[in-house]
Amino acid sequence: MATPKTLLEAIQYFSDYDNCRQFMISVRWLDGKVRCPYCQSEKVTYLEKARVYRCYGDHPKQKFSLKVGTIFEDSAIALEKWLPAAWLITSCKNGVSSWELHRALGVTQKTAWFMLHRLRLAMQTQSFGKIGGEGSEVEVDETYVGARAQNMHKSRKDRIRQAQAQVRSAETIASRYYAKTPVQGFLDREQRKVRATVVANVKRETLQDRILNQIERGSRVYTDQALAYTKLQDKYVHEFVNHLESYVRGRVHTNGMENFWSLLKRGLKGTYVAVEPYHLQRYVDEQAFRYNNRATEDNPLTDADRFHLAMTQIVGKRLTYSELTGKDWQAPF
Ligand SMILES: [Zn+2]
Repeated sequence: MATPKTLLEAIQYFSDYDNCRQFMISVRWLDGKVRCPYCQSEKVTYLEKARVYRCYGDHPKQKFSLKVGTIFEDSAIALEKWLPAAWLITSCKNGVSSWELHRALGVTQKTAWFMLHRLRLAMQTQSFGKIGGEGSEVEVDETYVGARAQNMHKSRKDRIRQAQAQVRSAETIASRYYAKTPVQGFLDREQRKVRATVVANVKRETLQDRILNQIERGSRVYTDQALAYTKLQDKYVHEFVNHLESYVRGRVHTNGMENFWSLLKRGLKGTYVAVEPYHLQRYVDEQAFRYNNRATEDNPLTDADRFHLAMTQIVGKRLTYSELTGKDWQAPF
């Protein structure tokens, strides 16, 4: 059977364990040789019935599955379910909710929620180096995500208050809008790539320092308001549009970032029931992954390409239930 190109083909293809196994080997080892995750030895045999490998090295834990060393480690969920789930989240424009995944895969909603968070970890791209460059155009914008506090149940309010206390200063929490979490984003127009990060606050220093740390000197920086970014003047060509007057002044606008925010919010509103600030960065990463790897004229990426790309990023990352929730609770999967 040929490698899958559509969701339906992916579900069929990965319903065969041997296809899952071959796929995992291909994304983990370029030369196709399985290595022991503990001692890197190639001298391993496959125990077909147990679906594990056995290493002959002199160390404990001689048996290992292909999930060891990846985001799937310690999960009782079969690869036959993990791989179609990964296909779904990397290809659906607005994301997929834990309820949808629960129905599609026949796992509990709680399990589906945990699976999606692990998969988001695979979609997280490490951002090394700065974006922009001499003469390059970079849009800078901020948005707020979350509900207004007065519309929320008290226990949820308290939970969010606690979570925000970790990232925010007390004075910001005191605000009536404390349930809204700020996110700052940069769009490199030439590369057509977005970088977005949950920020502790929207103080001028905070936003400005992030710009200085992430955008190359000499870039043309476009923002949407007359915030006095005093430190930017001698390092960038800084231009802004005053939204009281217009939203576009020639090439000076932040419409690209606005477009990303609306995709992010559509995903959060339509598909995800509620997002705590603590988890928001993962949803932002998920949306940025799909946005940065969307099909364009000169780079016609497909669903299969996006899935493959995310799967090459599963190695060396782990997320346990207690890390995810802060609860010391034994996950049933
Ligand atoms: Zn070994």
